[in-house]
Amino acid sequence: MSKTKFLSPGALPQWLSELAAKATVYAPRREGRAVVYRPHIEGEAPELALRPTESAKHVLFPRAEALFSFTKQGEAEKSGRRLEVQEPAEPGPAVIFGALSCDARGFLSFDPVYEGSGTDGEARDPYYLKRREKTALVVRACKRPLSTCFCHWVSGGPASGQGADVLATEIEGGFFLQAFTERGDALLDAPSLAEATAEQRAEADKAHCAADKAMGEIPDLGPAQESLLDLFDSAEFWRDRSAHCLSCGACTYLCPTCYCFNITDESSGLAGVRLRSWDNCMSPQFTLEASGHNPRPGKSARLRNRVGHKFSYYPKIHGGRFSCCGCGRCIKSCPSSVDIRKIVLDAIKEVGHV
Ligand code: SF4
Ligand code: SF4
Repeated sequence: MSKTKFLSPGALPQWLSELAAKATVYAPRREGRAVVYRPHIEGEAPELALRPTESAKHVLFPRAEALFSFTKQGEAEKSGRRLEVQEPAEPGPAVIFGALSCDARGFLSFDPVYEGSGTDGEARDPYYLKRREKTALVVRACKRPLSTCFCHWVSGGPASGQGADVLATEIEGGFFLQAFTERGDALLDAPSLAEATAEQRAEADKAHCAADKAMGEIPDLGPAQESLLDLFDSAEFWRDRSAHCLSCGACTYLCPTCYCFNITDESSGLAGVRLRSWDNCMSPQFTLEASGHNPRPGKSARLRNRVGHKFSYYPKIHGGRFSCCGCGRCIKSCPSSVDIRKIVLDAIKEVGHV
């Protein structure tokens, strides 16, 4: 059976120090009106009362990262100029502390893509995978959902341990900690933590049940895949749903399951760097081709692609799993109140699957 421990609030700084002695610890921090994951600073209390505004995906998939740097060697006039390539430093061990259950599940959507699923491993992405392998997730169970949460629609739940190494549940006087992996066991092997009692486990189970109950009814999303395909050519449906979209991209940048990127070479003189940066399919530039042609020039086509990808095309090639963990960030942060839940349910209804 996996390890369980008890963490008192007074012992939290010490546990974080113990974790930080072996790994870079990322924890939620308040920055202005936002709560973001940043490297933990000794003596600073993590922000655990509020939901993180952003997901933790940038820890494994940075907003911009150098895939390698290069230097051109030799005389400019000589045709056989050599290119020297420097690989980036190997990532070190890391711990994401205080992630939400949905955020941990978000990485499960990244994994098959970056493992090169369906390509016999030819398209494996070593940059993501090395970080993934070295990063542990300490997830906190949600006590009560926000009105925008729908993790339970997409096979998750407020206290889901899927994708987590350790699940932390707030109970009377502290946190009940439960490991789900060997790496989680190792994280709980810390002097600051006390043994958990059977009563504390029972209290955590009760908290999980209460949180599950607060989530409400689960609609049948089974027909979503086909419904969205059926509506692919329905210009009216997508025009209505995207009418208020500003193409700002907040939904994609904050989404724990959006994994698209762009590659650029930036150089100055004889040296340069190949950068990978987050891309945003809600922007008209996303599909703009060098010829000037744009297959998705309008926002309705872009919204159709975003929703279709998450609830139809991705599940079709990844065993039915939606590329959405139900975190609700795209709903909460959209300046125009575009609600992906409503679009999916409308699509199912529109083609008469309910
Ligand atoms: S956050 Fe809302 S307004 Fe901005 S691109 Fe996404 S759907 Fe459009
Ligand atoms: S699509 Fe929206 S609800 Fe789904 S994972 Fe992305 S941000 Fe969260």
